[in-house]
Amino acid sequence: MTCDPQGACWCAELPHAPMPPQTAGCLCPACLCQDLGVSLDLLGKSAAELRTWMAAFGEPAYRGAQLYHAIYAARNFDFAAMSDLPAPLRARLAAAARIALPEVSRRYTSADGSVRYLLSLAGPQTGRGGAIPQARVEAVFMPSENRQTICISTQAGCAVDCKFCLTAQLGLIRNLTAGEIVGQVLLALEDHRAQLAPRTNVVLMGQGEPLLNFEPVMAAVRILLDPNGMALAPRHVTLSTSGIVPGIERLALERVRPKLAVSLNASTDAQRDAIMPINRKYPLEMLLQACRSYTSGNREWLTFEYVLLGGFNDTPEDARRVVRLLSGLRAKVNLIPWNPGELPFRAPEQPCVEEFRRVLVEKGLPAFVRYSRGQDIAAACGQLALIETPTPISAVAVSGAPPAPPA
Ligand code: SF4
Repeated sequence: MTCDPQGACWCAELPHAPMPPQTAGCLCPACLCQDLGVSLDLLGKSAAELRTWMAAFGEPAYRGAQLYHAIYAARNFDFAAMSDLPAPLRARLAAAARIALPEVSRRYTSADGSVRYLLSLAGPQTGRGGAIPQARVEAVFMPSENRQTICISTQAGCAVDCKFCLTAQLGLIRNLTAGEIVGQVLLALEDHRAQLAPRTNVVLMGQGEPLLNFEPVMAAVRILLDPNGMALAPRHVTLSTSGIVPGIERLALERVRPKLAVSLNASTDAQRDAIMPINRKYPLEMLLQACRSYTSGNREWLTFEYVLLGGFNDTPEDARRVVRLLSGLRAKVNLIPWNPGELPFRAPEQPCVEEFRRVLVEKGLPAFVRYSRGQDIAAACGQLALIETPTPISAVAVSGAPPAPPA
């Protein structure tokens, strides 16, 4: 492989440019790997990146497109089995690169068929920039008739500090790379290759705030939605945000984008401030204005998630305020009754859940009650990582104590 210090880097992750005189060579992953004698991980690379890399590797660029198809469309992770590539090239690839799916630390299978993975991520190549910390994240495979839904993480831990979320207690450990994000989907599909349903849904609702790790998340999403890649329909991929307004505005500029879900969880700013500190930065009016702009000019529906916390945000008056907040938006609401757990909240009474939904539906707002699956396998996001993370979690910013139980 040749490195052209004057040219554009094949890999968009780091600038490929002449380095200052005291630095030897280029810091892009391809050159670093070459220097360090380690293999380059191709997972998460786009078709354009693989074409450029193949050209740098001394091969015709179209070999990159073949590699892209093999990894994401055929889900073939073994160079030796890529029979449309010449044998000598397969051998060269095996020596210079790798396609590394996340490593499964533990696998938990629920009575309802869901499989929850605790994944160990070694981090991208280490080198002159120093070691990138190992991280543990969760992904869940949920089978149902005619489809499987895969929930994936976008960060290890999270800095957003929602008071009802166990992941928040980890603090932010690090952002995941595009390869680590798309790798969770590939791993879950591979693990169930023999019994897959025709349709796959992907939800970015695991650990992390996707819009605070925008570039790697979108690089992974583009591979998921690319007809030559994993070929999922945009309506089958959902990105859930706590309400990062600049991220919503940036997502609106994307040519192909996933469905957007917004974690609402409150009917007033005071209420939302108490459980989602991000609301102090992006209060409801600003958030809903961004949602209106996001859908203006298209016929897109937004999903609003609303975790019902018993005695806190689950009254009919809350429901009427939610109707007013979302008026004029093409929106549906997923109501998620709180699962009793370690955090200081309680589950809503079943009649309150039904009444809340009735108010929304009666006012013309589609609303559905969603129950968490896999409750017997530590269902809440972040639960496994907390259970499996050796204490103390000293290297990460542990968020403050949860607020006092709402009255
Ligand atoms: S709910 Fe999502 S955004 Fe909020 S702390 Fe948990 S992982 Fe982060």
